[in-house]
Amino acid sequence: MPIYEFQCQTCGFCFEEILPASNDTLPECPHCGTNEAVAKQISACTVRGNVTAAASCTPRGGFS
Ligand SMILES: [Zn+2]
Repeated sequence: MPIYEFQCQTCGFCFEEILPASNDTLPECPHCGTNEAVAKQISACTVRGNVTAAASCTPRGGFS
C-alpha cells in the first residue's frame, strides 16, 4: 500500500499514513487530533515551509 504524507492545516504538523488507494478517509492528526483539516501532500511537507502555522498550534481552535 502506498504511503501518503499529510499536513494538518490546523497545527501544521506533518505525518505519514499508509492507506489503501481506495481509501478517501482522512486520518486524524496525531498532534491535535483533528481530521477535518488534514491535506494530502504529494511531496515533502517542507516544501510549503508553513512555519507560522507550525509555530502557532491552536488545537481544536480553528476555522469555526
Ligand atoms: Zn494538527
